Amino acid sequence: MLNNELTGPAGVALGHRTIDEIGRQELAVSPQNYEVWLSYLTHSSPDLKQAIDALLALGRPINSGDMEDLYERFFSTTHLSTQVMETGSRIAHEIADALDALKKAGATTERYGVTLNTAAESLRSATLDDSALKRLVTVLASATTEMSKQNSSLSTKLAQSSQEMEKLRTSLRQARAEALTDALTGIANRKLFDETLRLRKEEADNEHTDLCLVIADIDHFKSFNDSWGHQTGDQVIRFVASALTKFALPDHLVARYGGEEFAVVMPRTTLTQAARIADQIRSAIEAKRLVRRSTNETIGAVTVSFGVALYASGETVNQLIARADECLYLSKRNGRNRVTLDTTLPAASDAA
Ligand code: GH3
Ligand code: MG
Ligand code: MG
Repeated sequence: MLNNELTGPAGVALGHRTIDEIGRQELAVSPQNYEVWLSYLTHSSPDLKQAIDALLALGRPINSGDMEDLYERFFSTTHLSTQVMETGSRIAHEIADALDALKKAGATTERYGVTLNTAAESLRSATLDDSALKRLVTVLASATTEMSKQNSSLSTKLAQSSQEMEKLRTSLRQARAEALTDALTGIANRKLFDETLRLRKEEADNEHTDLCLVIADIDHFKSFNDSWGHQTGDQVIRFVASALTKFALPDHLVARYGGEEFAVVMPRTTLTQAARIADQIRSAIEAKRLVRRSTNETIGAVTVSFGVALYASGETVNQLIARADECLYLSKRNGRNRVTLDTTLPAASDAA
């Protein structure tokens, strides 16, 4: 009866049931556990069956200590040879490793199948002819097929959910990027400007590096809009944004601060460097002869005024913005199309 049960489809099914039982008890798929459960399911030992039934009646999962006791009591005299044990535990490790890899990384079914097949193969090629070893080989081989099937759907699910996670991450990244980007110009918006300036201020405090803030405002933009229309005004705003971006350094942040106002956060930049960059932007904008896109009419040039402030250690972000703004105001008052530095203002400590 035992032999009939261990060959052909019935043997395969029995192998599955044995492994299922071991899994249900949350026990390791070790050769010992396998042998205990296989014997239990095939009723090969009434005493063993009684002992396991008594354990199951306790209503708790059977643990590895119970299994060691059972094995000691019922199988110690028919131990598998040491070599079989070693091969078996190698397989158990490989199975555990493959399961781990599958769980953690969503390893492919193929890889899992190969691991199991390799394990079964190495056991199959063992020179021992112990009947227990043969039983193990038969069942492990059939288990390989079944586990591969199960893992195929598991890894498909894992792949699907990791794809879903990736999609979710991508759309979150996009949503965040959109939330921080100005729609008209594609540069940073006020929110990202605020975040970045706060971050850079902390960095300047910690690293004792220079941090400059440039604020820029298009001159007489209201009358420009009135003469040429809002759409052409938008075109100019985009042009000014691109000029700022062109001359700013890679770790500077160019932002649209308000309607026709811009700001550049310049970490690790001295006041002299910031002033030079601001003036490059100013003269590039002034030099550009603008053409109205819709009609090809020449509309002349626009100019921009700038205020530049160097962060004074200990001041708040708002104090820094206010000083840059005050410089911008001075540029406007002194004729526009110019760059004013905060050296023209009292030192931060005096102003506070
Ligand atoms: P000043 O040289 O003193 O800066 O004068 P100004 O006319 O540029 O300043 P004011 O603040 O009086 O006008 C700003 C104008 O900018 C008013 C508004 O119509 C225009 N504006 C603000 N946002 C936009 C925008 O998104 N698109 C367009 N086309 N115009 C805008
Ligand atoms: Mg303005
Ligand atoms: Mg203006």
